[in-house]
Amino acid sequence: MRISSWDFAYVRIACIKLSERNDPIFISHPYEKPMSTTFRALQPELIDALRSTQIWQQNCPVAIERLALVEISYVDFDSARHDDGELIVFDAVAPRVQKIFERLLELKFPIAQIKSLHHYDGDDEKSMAANNSSCFNFRPIAGGKTVSMHGYGLAIDINPVQNPFLTFQENDGIANIHPPAGWQFINRRNQKPGMIEPVISVFAENGFVIWGGSWTTPIDYHHVQPPRMVADLLTIMNKEDGIRFFEFCADRHAQLVELLSTFDLTELAALYKSDSDLFFDKISIA
Ligand SMILES: [Zn+2]
Repeated sequence: MRISSWDFAYVRIACIKLSERNDPIFISHPYEKPMSTTFRALQPELIDALRSTQIWQQNCPVAIERLALVEISYVDFDSARHDDGELIVFDAVAPRVQKIFERLLELKFPIAQIKSLHHYDGDDEKSMAANNSSCFNFRPIAGGKTVSMHGYGLAIDINPVQNPFLTFQENDGIANIHPPAGWQFINRRNQKPGMIEPVISVFAENGFVIWGGSWTTPIDYHHVQPPRMVADLLTIMNKEDGIRFFEFCADRHAQLVELLSTFDLTELAALYKSDSDLFFDKISIA
């Protein structure tokens, strides 16, 4: 490919324009402290809080002992560092969630706050209005049998204001924006700090390959999750096998959706229950 002087001029103008932007995608101020994102089992006080606010209930697909707390360091929109982020996740994905947030901190991707839903009594509208990033919240869907991926601790919501959730009233052209303040961020070509697009690959590379922003209805810009089959399989696995399986998902992230679609869930689950080594052999050679 030949590069002309016009190309150099164009690149130079583009660089100047980027440097003049006062709305950088990543906040550029440095910070001094080392990373400190870690994960551990839930402490009794947290278990009590999840039970008393009914964020975890008996019919939840994940035993409460299988949830883990990821303690997160992050930078906010004023470049201030916080070490009090708390995300409750399925234990099998905790090592990868730790990697995700270490990377977001490294990139200085701004996050408004990260608090467990029990601080909002499990009320997602309140949590979204507070621009809260979160994960676990067991919400049986009214009238339906499907449990939200949040009910497994397998879906992460990031900066709901900068990445709103859009629902549509059929046939009358009306869209609803959740939270309402998200109206300022509907145009995704106009990227601003905290919008999720620049870090979608960080989530995908760690197994959270599905982004709600690519759906047609609803459109859920703040939502990332692994494929639902991953949730179904993780719930029948012990923690050690779950971590091993989710590592496999992360390693194969680019083909994961296609790869899993070649399997029958019932057969795969039966294979795991009868011989877990054969299960891992079968998915590895696919
Ligand atoms: Zn979500």
